[in-house]
Amino acid sequence: MNQQLKERNSDLCELCNAENAIHEYTVSPKSDDSIENQVALCNTCLDSLDKKEAAFHWRCLEGSIWNPQASVQALSYRILQNFKSEDWASNLISSVDLDENVIQWAMTALEVAAVHTDAFGNKLESGDTVVLTEQLNVKGTSFTASKGTVVKKIKLVHDNTDQIEGKINDQTIVILTKFVKKSL
Ligand SMILES: [Zn+2]
Repeated sequence: MNQQLKERNSDLCELCNAENAIHEYTVSPKSDDSIENQVALCNTCLDSLDKKEAAFHWRCLEGSIWNPQASVQALSYRILQNFKSEDWASNLISSVDLDENVIQWAMTALEVAAVHTDAFGNKLESGDTVVLTEQLNVKGTSFTASKGTVVKKIKLVHDNTDQIEGKINDQTIVILTKFVKKSL
């Protein structure tokens, strides 16, 4: 393992700060193995990475999220998303003030897994144009958007694949993906 990476946290795993670091873990989507893109991990943390039942172990993120390395922050933030329905994790997510780039880095891998699709299964992406397949009553306003309304330059709602945002009548509203068709 890279000596500099190993020494960055005094030979200890950068997530749990408890066990010895023995793995170089490159935080996707970065792929080159410069140590700025890596986190030094122990066996336990590497094994627990994708385990949603490992909440108890991941309480260690309460420490690692404050690590000065962007790679450690990004990986910690990404793992926390698995537990955001639990108070400790959602409190932690809302109490840290991470750089926007770090958050984006953390969330990119999750976006790949969570795909937004329209009512017909077409993949939606930010910037797409969609057409409403149903008449929509827009919450909190008096207008309804009729079936066939074209919504340009949609945005994907990050943490909910059932929702997109778009502008209708100059107002940005949340639209359910099951009521839209992608305009090809
Ligand atoms: Zn560890």
